[in-house]
Amino acid sequence: MDNLSIYIHIPFCEQKCPYCDFYSISDKSEYDNYTEKLIERIRYYSSIYKRKICSVYFGGGTPSVIGIKRLIKILTSVKDSFEIENDCEITVEVNPCSAETLDFSLLKKEGFNRLSVGLQSADENELKILGRRHTAAIAKKTVERARNAGFNNISLDLMLCIPKQTKSSLTKSIEFCKDCGVEHISAYILKIEENTPFFRMQETLSLYDDDSQAEMYIHAVNELEKHGFIQYEISNFSKIGFEGKHNLRYWKDKEYLGIGPSAHSFVDGKRFYYTRSLYDFYNNITVDDGIGGDVEEYMMLSLRLKEGLNLLKLKEKYNFIPNENFLQRANKLKSEGLVTFSNETISLTKEGFLVSNMIINFLTDAL
Ligand code: SF4
Repeated sequence: MDNLSIYIHIPFCEQKCPYCDFYSISDKSEYDNYTEKLIERIRYYSSIYKRKICSVYFGGGTPSVIGIKRLIKILTSVKDSFEIENDCEITVEVNPCSAETLDFSLLKKEGFNRLSVGLQSADENELKILGRRHTAAIAKKTVERARNAGFNNISLDLMLCIPKQTKSSLTKSIEFCKDCGVEHISAYILKIEENTPFFRMQETLSLYDDDSQAEMYIHAVNELEKHGFIQYEISNFSKIGFEGKHNLRYWKDKEYLGIGPSAHSFVDGKRFYYTRSLYDFYNNITVDDGIGGDVEEYMMLSLRLKEGLNLLKLKEKYNFIPNENFLQRANKLKSEGLVTFSNETISLTKEGFLVSNMIINFLTDAL
């Protein structure tokens, strides 16, 4: 049986950032109850899924706010409950402010081997607009402390199209990441989500229109590649050999178990998720989300990756041969410079990544 990844959601943040739609609350009094509940669910799942674990990802929220003892306790329960692969990637997201007091040496010693640090920008004004409390200097110190503690796989999050961001300030933020010496960068375009303060105040934010977003994205891809960060997914870039194993599993349609409110799972061919409610999580309430892993889903996820969709693999996995209409559409996209299509592989170009949803719908509609 195929191995499994585990996602652990830590739904706590010290304060809510005005653009963020992830499920999180600020109730510190729940830290211990929540840790115990996670451990209970980890043990429960290990009794029904006898699978080897190849990656564990602590996301949020802000995992670092619950403190190192609780993080280690949760990871220890995963290690005690499941069989873990020797080269298992174990990532924890840290916020530069709450990481200031974290003992990185202890985290490393206990098995965490990858950090994802929420930098977002190296420009102080942009950080203020985003409502972030850290400074670029604090983020840099976090990376240095982690490096000195032995972490050799560190990722920084960058945000593109922040109000008032310019190509020049974005270039500086990318140079800052390079100077920090990290191995991986995730670069996401700011998306205005409903039910956030940014959504309500969007008229006053001078947001980027579609064309300017496209320009910023292409600029970021070019700058990142100039510094040796190779794009392997729409929003992810790494030095060679440092692609995020855990997230690659999602895009390769591999199975994973998500634990915590708002966490999604795909196990034994079935999809299910926890709602955005601590109460539901404490009461073991999950929602069935149907059967996963069909050919359309596989195509949609593969096209997010730079390596693209391999038609021979599609035939091998699903005994599926694309019809004439599909091939004509792929060739049309190729003539427009939105995909490359050769050697049985279709992959999106930089310009194609900008309209990935449109391309994916266009191709999958032809099935
Ligand atoms: S962006 Fe991160 S730190 Fe801010 S509210 Fe969202 S999860 Fe919390």
